[in-house]
Amino acid sequence: MARLLITGGAGFIGSHTCLVLLQAGHDLLVLDNFSNSTPLALERVSALAKLDVQSSQARLQVRRGDIRDRAGLDDLFSTAASAGAAIDAVVHFAGLKAVGESVREPLRYWDVNLTGSRCLLDAMNAHGCRTLVFSSSATLYGYPKDVPIPETASIQPINPYGHSKAAVEQLLHDLAASAPNQWRIACLRYFNPVGAHPSGKIGEDPLGTPNNLFPFMSQVAVGRRKSLQVFGGDWPTSDGTGVRDYIHVIDLAEGHSAALNCLLAEPAQLLTLNLGSGQGASVLEVVHAFERASGRQVPYEVVARRDGDAAITVADPAMALQRLGWKTQRGLDDICRDGWTWQAANPAGYSDQG
Ligand code: NAD
Ligand code: UDP
Repeated sequence: MARLLITGGAGFIGSHTCLVLLQAGHDLLVLDNFSNSTPLALERVSALAKLDVQSSQARLQVRRGDIRDRAGLDDLFSTAASAGAAIDAVVHFAGLKAVGESVREPLRYWDVNLTGSRCLLDAMNAHGCRTLVFSSSATLYGYPKDVPIPETASIQPINPYGHSKAAVEQLLHDLAASAPNQWRIACLRYFNPVGAHPSGKIGEDPLGTPNNLFPFMSQVAVGRRKSLQVFGGDWPTSDGTGVRDYIHVIDLAEGHSAALNCLLAEPAQLLTLNLGSGQGASVLEVVHAFERASGRQVPYEVVARRDGDAAITVADPAMALQRLGWKTQRGLDDICRDGWTWQAANPAGYSDQG
């Protein structure tokens, strides 16, 4: 079992992954500035993992801080080492992820996503911690030529968010090449992470108006919003609406656990893997699955296409199966059931219970 630093561990994917990693027996130190999350998520993770107060202090430590604070990172690595709990590996979720916002505020996106990652890598290197799982994204593929998309497809991001992720991947390649026998790195390219832990205790809680289909649709179903806009009914797909590869966030979390096990067991390497199901679902298929799962209607209107959208984005997940023995276990109906359990129990997200 390892001692892990989890940056951005209070966020949507981070909180679910923390739970899975605790259940796998790892000890965690979460670093988060809570710019897009709340410490309450980690209190719930602790409760779900059945940690009592004493074991919680040892197994899930939480530190408020920023990945761009180099002195803060030094202190974190040194303090852990001098307490006999040196960090073995880092799972790096911290970052900004809203495509539209990245177009309006590229400096902030490059700063947090690239400068923040560079600062973290510099501190890791200085403290001799060279095992990293990095949150990359299918957004790197831009408008894919062939679907399903293999990892060998060309990298052609089409917005500042995607550019910043591509730049971090390039930095990781350069770093691994500079010291080939030292760095163990997994770049995990997520497709569309959705759903929630089946308990309904943790889930996705976006600030303001959601940009993404799932949280928007869930808020329509729960009565927080009137109707969903479906962006385009004239795509070259079976029903004319956009097709994506939706992956249950617990499957995704298990993918991180598998990647970490692989890095810790195998010789130094840089792995680049798609994490997706290999199955596509259209917007209307998702809406109807969610209506079945929730027993609620999701009123919608079909409007113009959204700028920058691709028609179909579906992963070829064969490499993750081959290298990690990992594949998704949960389908669209599980995603909708668990996503609805979270939304129904927490109509206003974490702010419902302070
Ligand atoms: P999230 O916003 O819920 O989580 C990110 C976490 O990082 C938050 O807790 C936030 O407070 C924290 N954070 C942000 N800036 C920080 C900083 N400078 N220092 C410390 N902490 C900081 O997002 P998520 O959906 O959980 O995504 C996690 C990662 O996965 C991100 O890097 C994102 O780009 C990537 N990703 C997400 C998706 C998706 O659809 N959710 C898809 C592909 C890739
Ligand atoms: N979408 C939609 N209405 C919304 C949000 C998204 O019709 O309010 C569509 C979008 O055009 C795409 C799919 O749903 O076909 C998934 O979009 P999302 O923003 O969730 O993910 P991404 O664009 O990153 O794949």
